[in-house]
Amino acid sequence: MWQGILGHDEVVDRFRRILACGRLASTYLFVGPPGIGKRQFALKLAHALLCTNAPESSLEPCGQCDSCRMFAANNHPDLDLVSLPADKSSLPIELFIGDREHRNQEGLCHRLGMKPFFGRRRVAIVDDADHFNINSANCLLKTLEEPPPGALLILIGTSPGRQLPTIRSRAQVVRFRALAEELLADILVQTQSANGGDDARKIAALSGGSLEQARQMAIPEMRAFHDQLSAALRATRLDCFRIQRSVQAFVEEAGKEATERRDRLRVVIGFAIDHFRSKMRTAVPADAARCVNALDACIVALMAIDRNANLGMVVQNWCENLSGGDSFGLAPLALTEAL
Ligand SMILES: [Zn+2]
Repeated sequence: MWQGILGHDEVVDRFRRILACGRLASTYLFVGPPGIGKRQFALKLAHALLCTNAPESSLEPCGQCDSCRMFAANNHPDLDLVSLPADKSSLPIELFIGDREHRNQEGLCHRLGMKPFFGRRRVAIVDDADHFNINSANCLLKTLEEPPPGALLILIGTSPGRQLPTIRSRAQVVRFRALAEELLADILVQTQSANGGDDARKIAALSGGSLEQARQMAIPEMRAFHDQLSAALRATRLDCFRIQRSVQAFVEEAGKEATERRDRLRVVIGFAIDHFRSKMRTAVPADAARCVNALDACIVALMAIDRNANLGMVVQNWCENLSGGDSFGLAPLALTEAL
């Protein structure tokens, strides 16, 4: 285990090798399923690279120097974190080049080009890199093509297929795997999120390798809804209206805030994706085609949530589309990447 990060030893080894031969690139794109620790990894990497005592290639920050202390206080002058604002469906350009009054005098690109406070380097992390739009990606272009000396930019997304070509072609891709079920079960036991080993293993098996999903599944009402939805999806003929009503009610129970409801609907659609993916492994060809249609419907719904579409409409369209009809025009490659 490196710095409390579980399950990503291969990526740690890769960065140790890169640093040992002084070949750290200026931009990395971290990809992998949500909820598996990519952001945490990026922060630990930044911490190690910014420490002024330890050699970079050790990836072991000393924890004692001024840089480490400021990092621990979430107040490091050479570290920048940017993520999708709660009320936006894409990363706004202001985050990168400042607002109209301060164009190119503020924002991530400006700060990344400043002299490092501690003299080592500057690091910027962009969470939610799946949500660049053409304008914000273009703002980053100069930084990607002519990176300031020593600057490190880490973009965190879910798959290379979801990135704009501007970004994908200029970043080194680092793939993070879903966490192993055994590891997830161990974490659930250690954090007392499950009632013993058997319960932890059951939850882990339902979590698609995501710690975030495992934590959700450890909540009794979430698990009960998962079981209820799975039973409804196993029916020979889907009762779309009933599924729609129960999903709608469950999403509304998440709270009054739109972000809480959006997050819950993403989790629910994730349950359906897991269901259809596992069904597809054993399905006869006709059923497999239905599973692909249903998975298409799930992806279309997730994209609509990302665009801040009206959630009632998203649920309605999703449930209607789950039961079949034509594919929604996504190429098989896009489908595979998105999953
Ligand atoms: Zn240090």
